[in-house]
Amino acid sequence: EPLVRCDDAARTYGRGSGAVVAVHGATCTVPPGARIAVVGPSGSGKSTLLHLMAGLDRPTAGRVSHPGLTTTGDGLARHIGMVFQGPSLLPPLTAVENVALPLRIDGVPEAEATARARAALDSLHLDSLAEKLPDELSAGQAQRVAVARVLARRPRLVLADEPTGQLDRETGRHVLAVLLAAAAELGAGVVISTHDPRVADELDTRWHMADGRLVRPGEKTEAEPEA
Ligand code: ADP
Ligand code: ADP
Repeated sequence: EPLVRCDDAARTYGRGSGAVVAVHGATCTVPPGARIAVVGPSGSGKSTLLHLMAGLDRPTAGRVSHPGLTTTGDGLARHIGMVFQGPSLLPPLTAVENVALPLRIDGVPEAEATARARAALDSLHLDSLAEKLPDELSAGQAQRVAVARVLARRPRLVLADEPTGQLDRETGRHVLAVLLAAAAELGAGVVISTHDPRVADELDTRWHMADGRLVRPGEKTEAEPEA
């Protein structure tokens, strides 16, 4: 069963003459273990598509479902991890406290949450940063801690919205490698949005977004009819 299925899912902001169609009817599936890059320029609708897939936003037409994630009776949020572009750590908490917090919210007892947070930091080679505050971390270190925070919950689907967009090239490569290795260990599916074709080269499948239209490999857009 796919982790996500979009059936002609659309998202329009506003209404009437000022309405913006951020995503036109998108139809796609994310199979278990898939590694998909959603590539397109700024404003093309990538972020909106990822939010729809995460269940953080609802389609204004069509349908988004999660057949492979809703079988266990747990809430959807339990199985989906989201990585954002910018700083997302809570400033007053240390790295290990940041990673442990979502586990605590999930109901994991404090000692176990801390142990799992430390294990996630160790597996990303961040153990030396565990007691640091976000202010004391570089942008790349902070983003790796944010990846650890997502992966510590053992999601079955990781959605990352321009996760390397604010990093220099080498740092971005490192964060991406860490994210992909950790997701592979969990067997999680990965969808990463990016405007950078080099990021997409690291993944298995490339989807394109242009002006809110999703084009998957082998499909033709309306703008490029079959010759
Ligand atoms: P991308 O992630 O590719 O940069 P977005 O999904 O953020 O694209 O945006 C797609 C389109 O929707 C853009 O035209 C953007 O301005 C518009 N948009 C996004 N979020 C909102 C919002 N909350 N209200 C109004 N328009 C929005
Ligand atoms: P420019 O070539 O314009 O200087 P950079 O080389 O700094 O741009 O890369 C821009 C973005 O692309 C950065 O966010 C970086 O993390 C990302 N990036 C570049 N190459 C790769 C790659 N091979 N794998 C992952 N991310 C990459």
